[in-house]
Amino acid sequence: MQRRQFITGAGAMSLAACASSPSVREPTASKPYWKNFAPVRSDMSRVTRTLVGLRPYRPQGYRLDWEVMGEKTVVHSYGHGGCGVTMSWGTSVVAADYASDTGVEDVAVLGCGVQGLTAALVLARRGHNVTIYAEDLPPHTTSNIAGVLWMPTTYYDDNEVTPEWLSWNRKLIRMAWLGFIPYVNRPGYGVYWADHHALSQRQPNNWNALPGGNDLYPELSLTEGQGNLFDYPFQQRFKAMIIDPDYYLDAILKDAQLAGARIEQRSFSDLSDVMALPQSTIVNCTGLGAGALFGDDTIKPVRGQLTHLLPQKDITYSYVAPTSNGVLYMFPRKTGIVLGGTTDYGEWGRDPNPDEIRRMVEGHGELASRISA
Ligand SMILES: Cc1cc2nc3c(=O)[nH]c(=O)nc-3n(C[C@H](O)[C@H](O)[C@H](O)COP(=O)(O)OP(=O)(O)OC[C@H]3O[C@@H](n4cnc5c(N)ncnc54)[C@H](O)[C@@H]3O)c2cc1C
Repeated sequence: MQRRQFITGAGAMSLAACASSPSVREPTASKPYWKNFAPVRSDMSRVTRTLVGLRPYRPQGYRLDWEVMGEKTVVHSYGHGGCGVTMSWGTSVVAADYASDTGVEDVAVLGCGVQGLTAALVLARRGHNVTIYAEDLPPHTTSNIAGVLWMPTTYYDDNEVTPEWLSWNRKLIRMAWLGFIPYVNRPGYGVYWADHHALSQRQPNNWNALPGGNDLYPELSLTEGQGNLFDYPFQQRFKAMIIDPDYYLDAILKDAQLAGARIEQRSFSDLSDVMALPQSTIVNCTGLGAGALFGDDTIKPVRGQLTHLLPQKDITYSYVAPTSNGVLYMFPRKTGIVLGGTTDYGEWGRDPNPDEIRRMVEGHGELASRISA
């Protein structure tokens, strides 16, 4: 099979021009670039921990709006599914804008995951008097469990969203990307670029059009045929941000506190607890908890399990690869190698599944063996 390559991204030819006249290269006998990659040493003896988290998923996408409830204005920002970290500098900033628009100084933020912390940070920096109320604080939030690849994914059902929502969402994706850029390689924040590979057996629907615009994916190249990582027929390769949530959440929590936000650890059993708060403006970033607290039965868990391996300094690439045994993804962090690939819709269980641990360790081991084959 011939290898077809489309190069796109900032500074490259326009996508339209590329698509109309793709550069077609003859297969070469030279070694594919990825044969120089260090293989992931995926072995049960190198497993350090396995974490399970519940993504807060709504088929109609995240909720980002406000409503008047009695004497309070409640701003909602929850239900970000598999991309709550990714979208934080978009949705949380809009939530902060809605809260600022009420014109009051004192604001309550419910939730201390990435959405609540980012909203609190933005509001505190604007001079609001912010109190974060949350049952779980970092490192015990769902946000701490996440991978994290900066990529808007697994957060709505195509059949449930309107073109207007998609167009608004596109703007927020772009805001979110720009919001993260200043953190890349900033000491203590755990954000860095990886050489990412989205692999597939068939040409994916979004082949030529990645979420938010191709310019958000530096060095994007689309290749089909020989030479792709692990010999997959289709590959979208680009630089992607990897965010280590343990570093990142601690860092923005400190930033929020430095800007004046206070934290009060407490649980809200129902709406009357929320209505009893002294603040008249409340930003609701309770993630999956919003379902019970605000009576939203559209929000459901999407269970995910991640197995961490000992770190490998020489791994600077990442991938998402569908296999005959399910999807597998690998994100390198400075503190360890993250193996994932489970999306169990409607599953509430938080216990690690030993069969899944084996599937991941063996599956990634098999992929890694192709590098030295
Ligand atoms: C395995 C896995 C992998 C993931 N990978 C990625 C990824 O690669 N990229 C990405 O962008 N996202 C990823 N995600 C998704 C991401 O983790 C979530 O979208 C994100 O954490 C949601 O953030 P949040 O702040 O809304 O919720 P949370 O982090 O869950 O925070 C909710 C906060 O609200 C508080 N709260 C809830 N109910 C109450 C209550 N009744 N009273 C008081 N406090 C309450 C909680 O205690 C907590 O402080 C992944 C998730 C999982 C599970």
